[in-house]
Amino acid sequence: MTDRTWVLATGNAGKVREFNQRFAETDVTFRAQSEFGLSGVDETGTTFVENAILKARAAAEASGLPALADDSGLRVPALGGAPGVHSARYAGENASDEDNNRLLVKNLTDVEDRRAEFCCALVLLRSPADPLPLIVQATWAGTIVDTPRGDGGFGYDPLFVVDGGSVTSAELPAETKNRLSHRGQAIDQLLALLAESTDLSSTDM
Ligand code: IMP
Repeated sequence: MTDRTWVLATGNAGKVREFNQRFAETDVTFRAQSEFGLSGVDETGTTFVENAILKARAAAEASGLPALADDSGLRVPALGGAPGVHSARYAGENASDEDNNRLLVKNLTDVEDRRAEFCCALVLLRSPADPLPLIVQATWAGTIVDTPRGDGGFGYDPLFVVDGGSVTSAELPAETKNRLSHRGQAIDQLLALLAESTDLSSTDM
């Protein structure tokens, strides 16, 4: 089988590394969309899937290659699903992770139900106008604590205590988090689909 290059709809070099590590057993190699002059798109969707489609389409258009996009965030049922698709900018357009975390804790003052889940949608478009995107989604359940703990990860990790344990996702070793997380699980699903599907494993994608 010929090696294939796909574009990953992100400017984050760490994400490109993580995906290339996870896809090491396949014939697919990812390049960052920044290599094709694309810096990002407006994430105007109301769902993670819509935003991932927008990102993948722009990356496929800019690169002329099949494009994979992920979109993710934190859902807190007691807050009506917020911060949801607004996770990165919960406390405002240029908010830092610390700003977002402070606002989350503030909005959960006196709230008893601390359940939360990280969500990840992955969308693969074979071409910009692909009428049948490949879509997988996964969640990772936990609870939100008031005091941040741990130096690993990013975003809401220091506040997210993983179900079935007592540590936050920022206290987990990176490999453990990458295996258990919403993104890790979604990648597992995608790899399983790729292994199964003759269409997707064909060389002419
Ligand atoms: P993106 O889809 O990677 O742009 O992530 C959107 C936002 O969701 C991030 O800026 C974080 O605030 C939050 N988020 C997504 N995944 C994680 C995670 O694994 N840990 C912590 N926060 C996350």
